[in-house]
Amino acid sequence: MDSSRNSLYHIQHRTHKVFNKEAKNDRYSSKSLLDKAFPTIPYSENKFVCIKGEKSPFDGDITYWSERNSKLYSDETSKALKRQSHTCGHCGLKMLPGEKVHLHHVNGNHQNWKAKNLLAVHESCHNYIHMSKEKS
Ligand SMILES: [Zn+2]
Ligand SMILES: [Zn+2]
Repeated sequence: MDSSRNSLYHIQHRTHKVFNKEAKNDRYSSKSLLDKAFPTIPYSENKFVCIKGEKSPFDGDITYWSERNSKLYSDETSKALKRQSHTCGHCGLKMLPGEKVHLHHVNGNHQNWKAKNLLAVHESCHNYIHMSKEKS
């Protein structure tokens, strides 16, 4: 009776799985896949998080694990991770050390830094969230 809901879930879930699998097995091709999906991300220019009103394919809420600073990630990201017991808010898997963690603004409003609007997710999961948003 809920088969239509289930099959939609399966399609999304499958896409997600495949996407993650590709990212693991073939970083190069998944990178170029991402480049196609999210062309020109000028984040390397920005030291940290770019929030204020800039529209970007990632909607500006990327937080990188910092390689140069002693801090591993931003306060808000670490708080979100703590709330989620270090699991990804999207796929529910554990965040591994050294993995990039993105902070997703659930309602898309980047001025809203309330705890419940912030979701720490894997980089690939974040890509997935925004890809499926754009498709729908
Ligand atoms: Zn995830
Ligand atoms: Zn986001």
